[in-house]
Amino acid sequence: MSTVLVVGAGQSGFQAAASLRDRGFDGRVVLVGDEPGVPYQRPPLSKAYLAGTAGLEQLHLRGEDFFAEKDIELVDARVKSIDRAAHRIHLEDDQELAYDHLVVATGARNRALPVPGADLPGVLTLRTLGDADQLRASLSEARNVVVVGGGFIGLEFASHAGRPVTVVEAQDRLLNRVASPEISEYFAELHREAGHTVLLGQGVSALHGDSQVREVELSDGSRLPADLVVIAVGVVPETALAEAAGLDVANGVVVDEHLRTSDPRIFAIGDCANFPCVQAGAATRLESVQNAVDQARCVAAALTGTEEPYASLPWFWTDQSGAKLQIAGILADADRTVVAGDREAGKFSVLSFRDDVLIAVESVNRPADHIAARRLFTADPHPRYADLEASEFDLKAHMK
Ligand code: FAD
Repeated sequence: MSTVLVVGAGQSGFQAAASLRDRGFDGRVVLVGDEPGVPYQRPPLSKAYLAGTAGLEQLHLRGEDFFAEKDIELVDARVKSIDRAAHRIHLEDDQELAYDHLVVATGARNRALPVPGADLPGVLTLRTLGDADQLRASLSEARNVVVVGGGFIGLEFASHAGRPVTVVEAQDRLLNRVASPEISEYFAELHREAGHTVLLGQGVSALHGDSQVREVELSDGSRLPADLVVIAVGVVPETALAEAAGLDVANGVVVDEHLRTSDPRIFAIGDCANFPCVQAGAATRLESVQNAVDQARCVAAALTGTEEPYASLPWFWTDQSGAKLQIAGILADADRTVVAGDREAGKFSVLSFRDDVLIAVESVNRPADHIAARRLFTADPHPRYADLEASEFDLKAHMK
């Protein structure tokens, strides 16, 4: 009987195991993860779960019964090493497990803030359920909350913390790495209107305190009072295991268009994988549920006899200060943008073009535009500027 071992029981690891069974794989499926309990989804950790409007059971990807029913073995352990020659993995408790195929789905970990005082009590991050529980408990006690980093996680935390916070961002705009300037500006306004203080172009040079963090020192020398500091400065892919096993690693575990690593028996998926992205036209690592789920499905298909290059359209969503932002496509090297809809009413989309071809659509409270964009991006060729201009940038008018 063939065995597929999945290392990492997060969004992509869970999906790989579930999709193998959905596709009729009748070998052994083992899902090894180092977080306690059944696999859970992370998005609510910075949204409804943080706000206290969703409970633990709403995080779980499936209940315990599912794993028994589908004969998916859940192993609660950290994988210490991969022995590629013997096709075995070693767990931290010195157990060994043999595989025919291995799926590396180890995700990412939060990037540390390399400044003095970053290890003071009261300085927290948000990646796991444990982190979210700790933050929820700390929020009820804290008087001055500072978020370091104006990316998705920092801004979602600010939006769902239930009180005004200060967001410090080193770049000159929020969401700098992932959104157009129009969207950055809109969300800066929105967060300020919601009562948050947004400081742009300000790095953090130190955190000060004693038995507790007390102040955040900014790059201009000024200090902010703080008894809770949330560090949200991005993630780094969890690649140590792959690297120690001699797999190619460069900003993630390097995979080919079939998501295979440099060892043909081993795949890598999700936040930890650096893959040739069709839409970006370059090697890319994405951090999203869509990417985790679609890559898992692609590998499950390959392992059940339907191997096709990975080409799914990247899309993403985030909920912040009452607005839902949905992004379809990849915003790399856009040279022209158009705002369609009613920005004042908070219902609009930013269409981004490169060489007159539509490459990304960011929709704020315009779900129909997002759905239309996803359909248009799966059609070939992509819409051109002139075609869209003729319809006054109504994406729905172009759906076949
Ligand atoms: P993960 O879900 O991180 O799973 C990896 C697992 O592997 C972890 O459990 C880890 O502990 C385990 N692991 C690592 N090394 C080992 C080892 N050696 N042995 C055993 N286990 C190991 N995406 C969206 O699209 N929309 C959102 O709104 C959104 N919100 C988010 C909010 C938060 C707070 C966070 C943290 C992420 C959010 N994301 C969102 C991103 C999304 O959750 C991730 O892209 C997704 O979880 C990636 O799945 P993954 O399986 O690659 O990694």
